[in-house]
Amino acid sequence: MESSTSSKTRTKTHKGKPSEDILPGNLLNCRRIKDGNFHLAKIIQKRNLIGGGVGDFEYYVNYIDLNRRNDEWVKFERFDLKSLKPDIEPVEPEELAGVRTVECIELRRHEIKTWYSSPIPLEFEDCRRLHVCEFCFTFKNSRSQLKKHKKDCQIRDPPGHEIYRDGNLSVFQIDGATNTEYCDNLCYLAKMFLDIKGNLGRTENKMFYVLIVHDDLGYDMVAYFSKVKLVMESYNVSRILTLPPYQRRGYGTFLIGLAHEVAKWEKVKMGGVKSQLSDLALSCYRKYWNRVLLRVLKQHKGGPLSILDLSEKTAIHPEDVTATLKQLNLLELDRENRRYNVITDAARLARHDIYSTETEIVDFPDYTKNLDSYFDPCPDFDAAKMITWLHPQTEEEED
Ligand code: ZN
Repeated sequence: MESSTSSKTRTKTHKGKPSEDILPGNLLNCRRIKDGNFHLAKIIQKRNLIGGGVGDFEYYVNYIDLNRRNDEWVKFERFDLKSLKPDIEPVEPEELAGVRTVECIELRRHEIKTWYSSPIPLEFEDCRRLHVCEFCFTFKNSRSQLKKHKKDCQIRDPPGHEIYRDGNLSVFQIDGATNTEYCDNLCYLAKMFLDIKGNLGRTENKMFYVLIVHDDLGYDMVAYFSKVKLVMESYNVSRILTLPPYQRRGYGTFLIGLAHEVAKWEKVKMGGVKSQLSDLALSCYRKYWNRVLLRVLKQHKGGPLSILDLSEKTAIHPEDVTATLKQLNLLELDRENRRYNVITDAARLARHDIYSTETEIVDFPDYTKNLDSYFDPCPDFDAAKMITWLHPQTEEEED
């Protein structure tokens, strides 16, 4: 990485240099705790350090070569002042809007470091740690206030309809129009982990699918996705999130499987996901497409299969089928007929493992401190475990 240097080469240059000299718009190397390396960073904001003396500041930095979810508040000691660039760059309004004021949330057993800013109500603007009710996602700025709230909180199960159950895992389908407050709170929470530009949008026109895992004392919300209602031509997941403590355990892939099943039930095709989703979500989608397409191909007996056949069987958009098979090297160009043929040869397919863990490397920040050291991996999605189904369009028509 060009802008990184080993921490071993760090020089003790910050002594003697006043912290007032570092201003928003400055570019200089900053040491990241996670990898111990210096990375070129831009100062976005500066504020007084809580409990610090006069001239003690902390600085919000954006690491130029890393995803924005790694932006953080740092102390002066982390800078290599020798690397300070002479010019000051303008700080754009969207950079300022992206400054995380809430640094951490407490949600049941977890203490989770936030990744992005969220447009939470103004009264919480100065709050660095939010205490979130695991039942209704209401947030409070102190543990005692949350305790008081939980005594009165009426919600004990997610609202809406339970549409899937497998052991201690359940998925609820929740209409944003009838459970607006619950879904608004969920969106505020989710935004802390999703890089979404602009406002959160209306919850009334969306359906939410919330995955929870029960234990003896209650349950944890683990992951969710939402989709816009009344889009008949294609089924597009608008947001999908697995909370950081549960990531890399298959929950995202599970929800993508559910989304494809819901698309089949609604008799629409999954829309192409393109760039609307985060890098983490896209990596989940790719894993899911690989797995499902390989499984269909390996089980296929008989004549040739086309890209459209595969799309019909799996509800995966034809463009995504093509891209996945290309990447797996399972497409052959038929020049004469100017189209791609899908390779169904058993020997070629045997080279691929359905559960291959080979995925792109994504940069996960240090995200969480949890009280439990182990969580079960998510079971595979199984369409036979769907319970009930309410078609959102039918509900709307009945109103
Ligand atoms: Zn509550």
